[in-house]
Amino acid sequence: MTRRVSIFGATGSIGQNTIDLIARDPARFQVVALTGGQNIAQLAADARRLGAELAVTADPARLEDLRAALAGSGVEAAAGPAALVEAAARPADWIMSAIVGVAGLAPGLKALEQGTTLALANKESLVTAGPLLMATARQHDARILPVDSEHSAIFQALVGEDMAAVERIVITASGGAFRDWPLDRLAKASVAEASCHPNWDMGQRITIDSASMFNKALEVIETREYFGIAPDQIEVLIHPESLIHALVGFRDGALMAHVGPSDMRHAIGYALNWPERRDLPVERLDLARIGQLNFRAPDTARYPALDLAQQVMRIGGLSGAIFNGAKERALDAFIAGRLGFTDMTAVVAGVLDRLSAQSGLLDAEITLDNVARADHLARQDVDDQIAQNC
Ligand code: NAD
Ligand code: MG
Repeated sequence: MTRRVSIFGATGSIGQNTIDLIARDPARFQVVALTGGQNIAQLAADARRLGAELAVTADPARLEDLRAALAGSGVEAAAGPAALVEAAARPADWIMSAIVGVAGLAPGLKALEQGTTLALANKESLVTAGPLLMATARQHDARILPVDSEHSAIFQALVGEDMAAVERIVITASGGAFRDWPLDRLAKASVAEASCHPNWDMGQRITIDSASMFNKALEVIETREYFGIAPDQIEVLIHPESLIHALVGFRDGALMAHVGPSDMRHAIGYALNWPERRDLPVERLDLARIGQLNFRAPDTARYPALDLAQQVMRIGGLSGAIFNGAKERALDAFIAGRLGFTDMTAVVAGVLDRLSAQSGLLDAEITLDNVARADHLARQDVDDQIAQNC
């Protein structure tokens, strides 16, 4: 039976890997919607090739370009944030949520409201609005399947297990581009240097977040929101080879580790084929050749963002939205050359402290509107801090 699928963030790294898997087995899938941003040529080419019903660009100013690129194809064109949400309401069996940033939240929620299975790469959704996302899924009997490699690994290690028997969850981190740099060089790290990941080939933003460990901070919060586990049951372990993605520790002392190649097509393919396992075009690991795997505890002086994740989980409420909004804006400023690499964490910590003290903000209900408000205030606070320091 063919399955109706949509891919949000189709032109990005996760989106292109998802398309790679779908295009290998065209008879199994009918593509409903593909969405992208500025890369109109890629979006249109994929929509034509896969016979999509609809292509949406996030930028309203690019609608005519998209229309022109799709001329004669029969693929509908649309643009803008509201069109993204409408596309998520189109009947589908499976939707990949792979927009980068908080912009992925509204389409993901809309998909869940239709009861659609949501393959979730967009970790920012869970960080900013975890309780809302999980409650919406429950209410509409929709399933969220994790795509982040660590969370897919945990999900797989938990098959057939009882959460009550889980003592701890360990997520691994490669340590990013600067894991072996002297600490005093980090402040001067450039955008180009931060954009090289030792093991994974990913979008630029998540690659820089891996170097600063903001990515792991988001993933710790994602673990808490998705699996409902207490903050002190979540550990981060530096594992430079990135072959063990996560481990689940049970009350009898057993540790179930998920081992696999550093290729996102595994986690994407697992979510695409779930609950079955099917052949995937990923490397089969030769452990004898690999020889050894290494582990070490994370150094909090090198990775202060990890402490911020603990702070966010302690505070709760809208602090995840504040944290993520501040992080996204600080990252924009780093990429634009307006903020140093290590300044990103300092700025985000300042925003979290200031806005947490603002009465009423944190305790407001987690709704789409309140997340947008917290996100906006956090971004504004980052801009204010940068302006003051200029
Ligand atoms: P990417 O930058 O390569 O692609 C992002 C996609 O989102 C593109 O299609 C882009 O056009 C679209 N987009 C960007 N801004 C948008 C906006 N404001 N509105 C709508 N669409 C917008 O990113 P990526 O590396 O593929 O990551 C996508 C998501 O998956 C992120 O949440 C990331 O944290 C998560 N993730 C990625 C990887 C990976 O291997 N790349 C691994 C785990 C999790
Ligand atoms: Mg990950």
